[in-house]
Amino acid sequence: MNIQTALLSVSDKTGIVEFAQALAQRGVRLLSTGGTAKLLLQSGLAVTEVAEHTGSPEILDGRVKTLHPKIHGGLLGRRDSAEHLKTMEEHDIDRIDLLVVNLYPFRETIAKPDCSFADAVENIDIGGPAMLRAAAKNHGTAEGGVTVVIDPADYQRVLADIDDPGVPSYGLRLELAAKVYAHTAAYDGAIAAYLSSLAEAEPTQQAAPARNEWPGTLTLQLRQEQALRYGENPHQSAAFYVDQPVQAGLLGSMRQLQGKELSYNNIADADAAWECVRTLQECGCVIVKHANPCGVAVAETPEQAYQKAYKTDPTSAFGGIIAFNRAVDVATAQAITSQQFVEVLLAPAYDAEALEVFAAKKNVRVLQIPTGQGGNAFDVKRVGGGWLVQTPDDHQLTPAGLKVVTAKAPTEQQMQDLMFAWHVAKYVKSNAIVFTSQGMTVGVGAGQMSRIDSARIASIKAANAGLSLAGSAVASDAFFPFRDGLDVVAEAGATCVIQPGGSVRDDEVIAAANERGIAMVLTGVRHFRH
Ligand code: 5GP
Repeated sequence: MNIQTALLSVSDKTGIVEFAQALAQRGVRLLSTGGTAKLLLQSGLAVTEVAEHTGSPEILDGRVKTLHPKIHGGLLGRRDSAEHLKTMEEHDIDRIDLLVVNLYPFRETIAKPDCSFADAVENIDIGGPAMLRAAAKNHGTAEGGVTVVIDPADYQRVLADIDDPGVPSYGLRLELAAKVYAHTAAYDGAIAAYLSSLAEAEPTQQAAPARNEWPGTLTLQLRQEQALRYGENPHQSAAFYVDQPVQAGLLGSMRQLQGKELSYNNIADADAAWECVRTLQECGCVIVKHANPCGVAVAETPEQAYQKAYKTDPTSAFGGIIAFNRAVDVATAQAITSQQFVEVLLAPAYDAEALEVFAAKKNVRVLQIPTGQGGNAFDVKRVGGGWLVQTPDDHQLTPAGLKVVTAKAPTEQQMQDLMFAWHVAKYVKSNAIVFTSQGMTVGVGAGQMSRIDSARIASIKAANAGLSLAGSAVASDAFFPFRDGLDVVAEAGATCVIQPGGSVRDDEVIAAANERGIAMVLTGVRHFRH
């Protein structure tokens, strides 16, 4: 069946005039909607408006343009069914053999800093996806079916097939139909993410079950958001999936305002940075490299917090992921861009001037995510042949949950530094040793197989950054198995320590702290992170 009629209705009008001209030259009748029809008419093409074709005008500000049986019947009637063809004839429905549609630019609209809710809603395309899905469903068989094009990059391929063998091949129709469903799924995903991000204050997370209510079967429903260039390393393949229904976490709620496509490592590190910063009460900044915080700080302003976080480890901050829990202003944006190379930024909001500063660095990925959004009902880790599933490590420590075990008790300032160190240690890979002072990390030792090496590394890193550990507070994510780790942090300059306790040698460790005049508090909770 030759292509008799094509319907063209596009928001992105790239190449549409040339494509329509080429179709007209090949004897295809053109149907089109308001704006697209106008453009084609101006180019001297003969076009029938959909409104004229159906006898129903575009109404409700364009919300209803193509939602009509003459359009959907023309797309959906089976070409291999005598009954369908007869029904179409009875209802005066012409076949539409080629559909060219791309959708209202929803993602581009919500990415604009001044996008209103009304703008966002008006940019939810209804008729476009309906037609696309109808045409893709009816891509048919080897004998014939509907060709559907959403991407101007495919116009030439369709023309090439019309020239030879005469109609688009089954292989091409099938490929284009699959492309449509991937596109409409991602489009709806973006809408769902946007709407759920507005429900910021609403706790959309389902509560984790108690141990005795643990579900016997877990159903994971995931939708592919995008294929990634590669995985953790270039020889690995990867894709980016989001929970269905969309959860309130990073992936369900973020919007990318600018920058290169997110990579596998970007997403993983952004998540680590976001989880650490969003759970800080004070105005904070977290810089992450390879899934570990290399600088964390709280301060009066985001710029001050950034400067403090950066000082922890300027060497590691290069190419880092930087997250804030307050709106980023122009001073912060300038401080970052003048000082370091950054891969990804995350914040709940950005001032317009700050966005202008980032716009000059086109590659920087700028992500916006509402403060309240984060976390998961479950943590999942893949192991050979299965999954390890656990409730998230969301234990919140309060000063009341602490036990002072040394002769000296921490001062108020020391207590603040200890609580801050404990917060950060939770987000550092085990074994974690974190030194802090005055609301800033001054030494981070991560991911070592022995606690004493993490302690040594934290001290070395502080020295490398030119920071003094004298009078600092230190957190250990799990107990000190021997006194040697405590000796290392004390010699480095720490004067107070927070740790879970629970070792068979707790007495030995507490005695060492007393010997050195250190204040020590026990949490009774540990935060291993692997
Ligand atoms: P035009 O610029 O031709 O007036 O509009 C083209 C856009 O309208 C396309 O993005 C197409 O997906 C969308 N569209 C087509 N039919 C309908 C409809 O019935 N309702 C809505 N909301 N959008 C439609």
